[in-house]
Amino acid sequence: MSKNIGALLHEAEARCAPLFADLDRIEDENFSRVLSSFQHHRVATHHFSGTTGYGYNDIGRDTLEHVFAEVFGAEDALVRPQIVSGTHALAICLFGLLKPGEHLLSAAGKPYDTLDEVIGIAGDSEGSLRAFGVDYSEVNLLADHTLDAASILSALKPNTRVVWIQRSRGYAWRASLTIENIETTAKAIHAIRPEIVVMVDNCYGEFVNTREPTMAGADVMAGSLIKNVGGGLAPTGGYIAGRQKCIERIAQRLTSPGIGREVGSYAQGYQTFFQGLFLAPHVVNQAMKTAVLTASTFDLLGYPVQPTFDAANRSDIIQAIEFGKPEWLIAFCKGIQAASPVDSFAIPEPWDMPGYQYPVIMAAGTFVAGASIELSADAPIRPPFVGYLQGSLTYLHGKAGICTALKILEEQGLL
Ligand SMILES: *Cc1c(COP(=O)(O)O)cnc(C)c1O
Repeated sequence: MSKNIGALLHEAEARCAPLFADLDRIEDENFSRVLSSFQHHRVATHHFSGTTGYGYNDIGRDTLEHVFAEVFGAEDALVRPQIVSGTHALAICLFGLLKPGEHLLSAAGKPYDTLDEVIGIAGDSEGSLRAFGVDYSEVNLLADHTLDAASILSALKPNTRVVWIQRSRGYAWRASLTIENIETTAKAIHAIRPEIVVMVDNCYGEFVNTREPTMAGADVMAGSLIKNVGGGLAPTGGYIAGRQKCIERIAQRLTSPGIGREVGSYAQGYQTFFQGLFLAPHVVNQAMKTAVLTASTFDLLGYPVQPTFDAANRSDIIQAIEFGKPEWLIAFCKGIQAASPVDSFAIPEPWDMPGYQYPVIMAAGTFVAGASIELSADAPIRPPFVGYLQGSLTYLHGKAGICTALKILEEQGLL
């Protein structure tokens, strides 16, 4: 490490201390809720065993779902290794809740890129909601990146069935939505239209705050197990949590009408899912500290960052940095890759990834393939060349990643 980089990181870290204390308080509260839920549901070794075949009476699976529901303050939850990703979890919810002729309203602008083809935003792509006869429209966020309640209410149609709220920034230069903002909006919608399902894309949001959307008026939320709640240990999967009535309908789409949630075996067993959830509040804390340090460091270097290092309203684990030029962005991603414990020798390059509209560069050397709760950086290659960093199982690894990225920028004469 050059003297300059060492001094820079030291200065960046020194001003994070009060923010880290806040993050520790959040971890404390979330961990207490997780631990007491394990105890309440009498989690025991036999819940870790796998099943085969149909998976009737799979008590490990069922208990895991009860624990998740309680941790999220939800009536019910589906937590399954058969849900292949966050996009799949979200798509199951939409196809379970919406019927042809009904309307879906996105309340936080255009949803995350992989939802484009699920909804049929770019056209009536095969198998999309639009091809299936579901009407779609969206309301943009206000200039301060909060939900525009008045416009949302006036965009509701008689056939509106689901209002979709994406909590995280995704690949957008905007703030993540606070739980308070989601809460007041959900209340305003329910006050005039109690039958509407307020559904939150909770990817990257779990355990970032002390409350989850389902504790704040959302009817359903969903996310990935290879992000926050998997704690870095869950090998695959997704979850859906919310009101029992909604979960029952969604369960019919999860497997097949009639058999719903009663089936689904997993021979490898559930230990990693339980243990991952147990670790998740701490892992999220480490990822948040990494995000704050990244913001602090690049802010000192003069790059625009979102959120600012001292932002009080963080609601996801993502840190965006605006590089302005593609070569800076790509050099940054190469640094994150080079600092990885796995595949450190690989060199990330932009590629046309399925589900995304632009070439995407992804830097991740992870134990669980593609797990973005592990330190990773990715970006669609489009102006103004914003890089998104997220994850880190430990703060020290996050710091090593930033340090290596700075070294590569320095070597290339870009610092
Ligand atoms: C990651 C993500 C998704 C999609 O999840 P995958 O697991 O990548 O399919 C959806 N929405 C948001 C906000 C995300 O961050």
